Amino acid sequence: MNKHSNIMQRTSNPQLPTIAKGEGVYLIDKQNNRYLDACGGAAVSCLGHSNQRVKQAIIDQINAVPYAHTSFFTNDSQELLAEHLIAHSEGDFSQVYFVSGGSEAVETSLKLARQYFLEKGKTDKKYFIARKQSYHGNTLGALAIGGNLWRRKPFDPLLAEGHHISACYEYREQRESETNFEYGQRIANELETMILDLGEENVAAFVAETVVGATAGALTPPEGYFKRIREICDQYDVLLILDEVMCGMGRTGTLHACEQEGVQGDLQTIAKGIAAGYQALGAVLISKKIVDAIDNGTGFFQHGHTYIGHPTGCAAGYATQLEIQKQNLLNNVKRQGSNLKKALKESFDADVLVSEHIGDIRGRGLFLGVELVADKASKQPFDPALKLHKHIKKKAMENLLMVYPMGGTLDGVNGDHILIAPPFIIDEENVAQIAERLNKSIREAILSVK
Ligand code: PMP
Repeated sequence: MNKHSNIMQRTSNPQLPTIAKGEGVYLIDKQNNRYLDACGGAAVSCLGHSNQRVKQAIIDQINAVPYAHTSFFTNDSQELLAEHLIAHSEGDFSQVYFVSGGSEAVETSLKLARQYFLEKGKTDKKYFIARKQSYHGNTLGALAIGGNLWRRKPFDPLLAEGHHISACYEYREQRESETNFEYGQRIANELETMILDLGEENVAAFVAETVVGATAGALTPPEGYFKRIREICDQYDVLLILDEVMCGMGRTGTLHACEQEGVQGDLQTIAKGIAAGYQALGAVLISKKIVDAIDNGTGFFQHGHTYIGHPTGCAAGYATQLEIQKQNLLNNVKRQGSNLKKALKESFDADVLVSEHIGDIRGRGLFLGVELVADKASKQPFDPALKLHKHIKKKAMENLLMVYPMGGTLDGVNGDHILIAPPFIIDEENVAQIAERLNKSIREAILSVK
């Protein structure tokens, strides 16, 4: 444990264990505790922690040249990774912009959307619409368009105010009288109403996570929702920015989560799993129409960071993507994802105390969420003051399990939930361990707040 630390942590817990090494799906601290990593930190570590080929690719790149500024040179790693990403996307993308993480990818996409309309002479198109409770990053632009009140409030007023329509939240907001499809159409149509309210000439883009991870734990879109969103965006010349920072790069069982919706964005952000955490990397996939508008207009995208197209980051990203293909890991994501969902349900059902507080188990592939409720029938969340999610995290760490619990957002719509996003390499034994340890941790946490 750190007795004294000069590191400013986001967490208030000064007693964090010190990490010593990683082995497959385990992280091992200096006390030799082996934690089963069932969340990849925040859905990052998709290959586990000791993939030799990715490590070797990083070493090879560093031995050749660790860094060269992209205004002087391009590099093979970013060229290969860009080619790979475009070849493996169904979207009409023609270029990729590599950054250092998710927030930078979102900032980049907002500026690309704005510049696209400036190039086209539509200078009033400056508003962004996103969804309530959404999280798209912690930098000021990304925070401003996000709908997570808890994260935004201390920093208001922000640079640009985002406008927000309803989240996709089947468990709490689909009416009994409507089908899943009807629910999806109803909330997608809110986008049209919002565009008309703001004036279509003023709206640049709609930003949404294809499958929501960051604020509400693996919320999947209703059937047909994104198809309707795409139609509305096309009708009003509004760009669709799909934020796949967390849900993308194989997490839901397809390389891009939007493949399962049959819809493509004009811009798509990716990060987290792209380089499996071996290096810090994010990217934006940019559609041809945006690239062409900039090429035929100003001629360059007015943006840039010191580490864009970082050779070592991109070498890790390219090696990660080859590894996913080589080991056929997307199949394992689908297979173990459904095993894990089943194992969680069975384990909760077998525990009377726990099962009466499990409101919902949801998600796709190895991107699963569990929502806890104080009362199952009324779906009443636990009192936020109890901070149940923090107790679950603490108990899980004591039980040598890493999961990613979150509390409700300030608008009080949802309650405590847990995100589970283990490495794509997990096996049946790991699945059983996750279900057993998580059930035990939830039980202990509930008892400690009762
Ligand atoms: N968008 C989404 C959907 C995210 O989940 C996150 C991170 N949780 C971000 C953006 C920001 O990414 P980063 O923390 O790498 O800046």
